[in-house]
Amino acid sequence: MRFLYVHIPFCVEKCNYCDFVSDSASLEQREAYLQSLIKEAALHQGDKSEEGLLTIYFGGGTPSLLSAAHLELLLDAFQKYFGFAKRMEITLEANPETVSLRYLRNVRSLDINRLSLGGQAFQDHHLKAMGRIHKSEDITTAVETAREAGFDNINVDLMYGLPRQTMAEWQESLERTSRLPITHISTYGLKLSPSTLWGKWLEEGKLTLPEDDLNADMQLYAMEYLEKAGFPRYEIANFAKGSYACRHNTAYWLRKDYLGLGLNASSLLYGNLRTKNEKDIDRYRSKVAGREYPWAEKEVLTEEQIREEELFLPLRLIWGLDTAAFAEKYGIEYFTQKKGQMVKLFDAGLLTVEEGQLKLTDKGVLLNNEVLAALI
Ligand code: SF4
Repeated sequence: MRFLYVHIPFCVEKCNYCDFVSDSASLEQREAYLQSLIKEAALHQGDKSEEGLLTIYFGGGTPSLLSAAHLELLLDAFQKYFGFAKRMEITLEANPETVSLRYLRNVRSLDINRLSLGGQAFQDHHLKAMGRIHKSEDITTAVETAREAGFDNINVDLMYGLPRQTMAEWQESLERTSRLPITHISTYGLKLSPSTLWGKWLEEGKLTLPEDDLNADMQLYAMEYLEKAGFPRYEIANFAKGSYACRHNTAYWLRKDYLGLGLNASSLLYGNLRTKNEKDIDRYRSKVAGREYPWAEKEVLTEEQIREEELFLPLRLIWGLDTAAFAEKYGIEYFTQKKGQMVKLFDAGLLTVEEGQLKLTDKGVLLNNEVLAALI
């Protein structure tokens, strides 16, 4: 296991659309949680790879609410239990409002070399409606501050499909983001779970979302615009300059083993075991304290499930699936069995083959769920 995700479930305030496991917490609660993370890491010492970790991703929540000393404590423990490879990618997700030059310099000195900022939109009225604590100018300031602190690998997240969001506003957000000195942009379509404030408002008819057609147009515009702006797409929702594709997230799509530590974190271990941790903090902490894996869900995948994952996960990536390697591993019969569905997907212009690589077309990217459903 060479890829580590660490969930930090703390936020200053809950955003109106968010169903991630996150909450405000006192310093004592945060420190107690860090101790649980370290204990959980210790339970997985046996899963370490001889070559050490290649990536660590601090996600959340708002991991930038942890002090540099907290992050150092965690990194020391991870180095002890898993070892570090020579050239690592270590990402910290941050809210643009929570980062100062001093903080970022301290964080950078810990060899954290990738910063992922939750920008979301460049219109203050959208940020306010979303319940975000930052303003649009904070995004620009955070990027400039991060550069000054020595970060040259920076991502900004953007969201489309927001209530009353217009195409012109989405275009403005993309243009302003792509002009920043950053390396990576992630775009997310708003999806609402009924457990969120906005999800409840939607059910009660108090919230109007853009039509599906407008959402699709926004996604397509992002794909075309960002390519021209020097951020080619490498995954359904991710765009990067040069060699700055996120190594950590790419490992998920290449179906590498990864370990997720913390509340509600998922893992893929031993190639066939998918687990999800408890999302209740007391249950999580008490299981870890008893030296028990804090799993709420555990599934041993069948060979058929593994094969399906190996087919559809790489399709998310621009490089697609190496059909020859897949056929060598599983036999050409697999494609023969799926021939009927595949022909329909080719005829509908959703799939294509280029130099032996099976890929989604742009239309296939927009309808990737339909492609997936047809293939498995
Ligand atoms: S900052 Fe992120 S994780 Fe925290 S509440 Fe907002 S959307 Fe959720």
